[in-house]
Amino acid sequence: MIAACSEDSSVHAHVTSLHDASNGNTRPKPVDLPAIETAVRTILNAVGENPDRQGLLDTPARVARMYAEMFAGLHAQPSRHLAVTFPEVYDELVLVRDIQFTSMCEHHLLPFTGVAHVAYIPKGCVTGLSKLARVVDEVARRPQVQERLTQTVADLIETELGSSGVAVVVEAEHSCMSIRGVKKPGSRTITSALRGVLKTNQASRAEVMSLINRS
Ligand SMILES: [Zn+2]
Repeated sequence: MIAACSEDSSVHAHVTSLHDASNGNTRPKPVDLPAIETAVRTILNAVGENPDRQGLLDTPARVARMYAEMFAGLHAQPSRHLAVTFPEVYDELVLVRDIQFTSMCEHHLLPFTGVAHVAYIPKGCVTGLSKLARVVDEVARRPQVQERLTQTVADLIETELGSSGVAVVVEAEHSCMSIRGVKKPGSRTITSALRGVLKTNQASRAEVMSLINRS
């Protein structure tokens, strides 16, 4: 059965609200660089540094630009990458493995980095493979927790592409685990989000997991 491909505005509206709800706000403000600079000066003062010493003079502006880059996904609608699809009768698994990403843990504002494996079973429509990587990238560039990152990517693909199954597995090392607190470098956190037949059909689920885990 061929589903209607793409450009269904009601579907897009739904995903937009889903995306926004996941961040707890509806319209992110544009990045206020001077406010970040002021805040960074405040932190430097608070830890006992002198923000006016030579080595730190440009640090507040540099950090402000870095945050603007790391959180650029707050101002983007990742669903737009999936808006253009191509009708295709292929209804077997599509898997893109090892999509590298960097995100920021929202609890410590420290980076976590790793890979995402994204799989879906098309129902009449396929998307460009690079678009899956763009979605991961943009959802990652927000204050995040890995669990929500995984679920948001799965929900976007399921809703935008109308796929009959979606599997997203994310493996990442969190610097808030490796450089502070329990200090366990090398530990990796794995999360998964399964939708449709990749959740309910045991054979399909086993197939996708074995392909993801294949070394
Ligand atoms: Zn953390």
